[in-house]
Amino acid sequence: MSSVPRQKILPFFLPMSGCRYRCVYCDQYVISGETEAPSPERVRAELEKFSGGEGAELAYYGGSFTCLPRKTQAAYLQAAQPALVAGRISGIRISTRPDAVDAETCEFLREQGVSTVELGVQSFSDEVLRKSGRAYGSKQAKAACLRLRAHGFRLGIQLMTGLPGDRDSLARDSMRNSLELGPELLRIYPTLVLENTELARLYRAGLYQPQSLTAAVALCADLLAMATAAHCPVQRIGLNPSPELEKALLDGPYHPALGGLVREALRLEQIRRLLRGYDPATPAVLRFPQRELPLVFGQKRAGLLALGREYPLLALEPDAELPAGLLIWEQGSKARELPEEEYCCQRREELAKADARMGGCSYME
Ligand code: SF4
Repeated sequence: MSSVPRQKILPFFLPMSGCRYRCVYCDQYVISGETEAPSPERVRAELEKFSGGEGAELAYYGGSFTCLPRKTQAAYLQAAQPALVAGRISGIRISTRPDAVDAETCEFLREQGVSTVELGVQSFSDEVLRKSGRAYGSKQAKAACLRLRAHGFRLGIQLMTGLPGDRDSLARDSMRNSLELGPELLRIYPTLVLENTELARLYRAGLYQPQSLTAAVALCADLLAMATAAHCPVQRIGLNPSPELEKALLDGPYHPALGGLVREALRLEQIRRLLRGYDPATPAVLRFPQRELPLVFGQKRAGLLALGREYPLLALEPDAELPAGLLIWEQGSKARELPEEEYCCQRREELAKADARMGGCSYME
């Protein structure tokens, strides 16, 4: 499943630093758990102790890096140069907004050793972007992604679900748009209602209703299937859990292991697809890769219990020889298999047809 290559990252959070606007849902102080940005000197000192090696990156998250004064950006990027030269890191990652990466900025970032840029696109629906206070449109977001790729950056795209004005088909359109732009990594964040945000005000006024956890898991499983079918890794689903976040949470699809829930939901659907046409009143065997047992069994054994209810005579057999993502159903001399990628491609096609039937999409031109 879109298995994410392990990469060592040394993250620093610059909460809301450089942000020109306050997006309706955002409070980076509670999202990151940091109350203030570290100084470049502290970054330099931490890097002295860090030995990430090949592929490791220093990352600046939590704000709009390229909206900071150039001098401040340069100070943060210069702090990483000794570690870059010594090979303790291989590159620098920053996150920023789509309306803050013009050509001159791209050139500056490249000169300073930035290798990966994560763009908080959130949605490719103009209406959703407007209602979320993002202050840019889908065309601008697309142009920013293409510009970053043209300048040789690894591109990361962050998307959100459940934003004001959003619906499942729009979120899937956003994923389709993202994948067409060739990102090397994705992140998906279902919208939470946090205290001290405009969204909290809208929620209290009855003008905003967040996704339920069940709805968010189902939609994120769609998005994950689409990304998997396109071989694009999803690096994270859901915000990092923290006591600060839980304290500020008013409502919304929060779960400390949301990504796990989504991956388990996708695997359960893959199993159900493989078992289509199987008579559950007859004994059969389901084989799956041994190391994916936690994925099949699920948190609190939810997957195991669901399979037990639906297919009481199905024996589950972990198999150390099976490659990742492959499921095999066997009954006497009959057998069928379903690799994960094939299932995800099927699901992607079905979703495309269903969304087209629902009246097309809000694709950017
Ligand atoms: S979502 Fe990003 S751009 Fe918007 S306020 Fe938060 S950190 Fe700033």
